[in-house]
Amino acid sequence: AKKAGKNNHRWFDPAMERDLRDRHALERALRSGIAAGDFVPYYQQQIDIATGRITGFEMLARWQSERYGHIGPEDFIPLAEEIGVIGDLSERLIRQALHDAREWDPALTLAVNISPLQLRDPWFAQRLLKLLIESNFPPHRLELEVTETCLHENLAQVRSLLVSLRNQGITISLDDFGSGYSSLSQLQSLPFDRLKIDRAFVSPMTGCAESATIVRAISSLGEGLGLPVTAEGVESAEIAAELRELGNLQAQGYLYGRPESAEQTRARLAALGLI
Ligand code: C2E
Ligand code: CA
Ligand code: CA
Ligand code: CA
Repeated sequence: AKKAGKNNHRWFDPAMERDLRDRHALERALRSGIAAGDFVPYYQQQIDIATGRITGFEMLARWQSERYGHIGPEDFIPLAEEIGVIGDLSERLIRQALHDAREWDPALTLAVNISPLQLRDPWFAQRLLKLLIESNFPPHRLELEVTETCLHENLAQVRSLLVSLRNQGITISLDDFGSGYSSLSQLQSLPFDRLKIDRAFVSPMTGCAESATIVRAISSLGEGLGLPVTAEGVESAEIAAELRELGNLQAQGYLYGRPESAEQTRARLAALGLI
């Protein structure tokens, strides 16, 4: 083979060419994986920190692919958003999750993450309510975790969407509060029922005075606004003990359990008499 010397002009260098090919292969794999049902819901417990009881689960998407199974949602969700398939992917996962959660004790809630792009889709509410009806799942057991926004342009549209979902009994949580786009101004302009403190503040709180102060501040903000608060990223008994002193929070994290398959979740609930 001829060597690629200095005078051998290429539009792309080989690494770039390979990246592009890989990306297209990944896109195709994502699309066909959705069609094939390779994306499945996993569930992570949410705990009432005062009683230690499970209050519900957050659904977290997993890709069960021989080849791409190592890619987590932090990577495939943004890709699905970029290529315009997030709505389809999300609704398939939600349908499956409603089916799974219907077996659980009816006091247990199901939280699902909703991409900001989905909130811009004018038909989102209608399709979600249709899913609930088809699955015979009570809206008051469903919680939507939303983040963001650069919704300044269509804040009014998003507000009326969230209000109408809420009127159906669905709970709306502001996810990753304190980081990224989830800000104080959103608290004032959008109808939320719950705040989730980002794990970037919770996980380090026992070794870091600043993090602990931020967690305390958000917790009392929630109290003042009458909004229940969830702390995510609870990794140790020390963190749980500190949180317990702040009042009646909901907690979520590796201390209690990692995200688990529907089967594992079922077994866990069966052992607790919650199924
Ligand atoms: P998130 O909504 O903030 O979810 C919490 C993430 O923290 C999950 O990562 C969870 O596995 C992880 N986690 C839970 N407890 C602990 C802990 O104690 N320590 C640490 N270090 N991590 C913990 P995961 O499952 O990789 O999901 C990452 C993100 O992907 C989620 O962040 C969410 O933004 C997004 N995502 C996942 N599934 C979906 C989905 O179906 N739709 C949408 N739009 N986004 C999703
Ligand atoms: Ca979440
Ligand atoms: Ca988070
Ligand atoms: Ca997140």
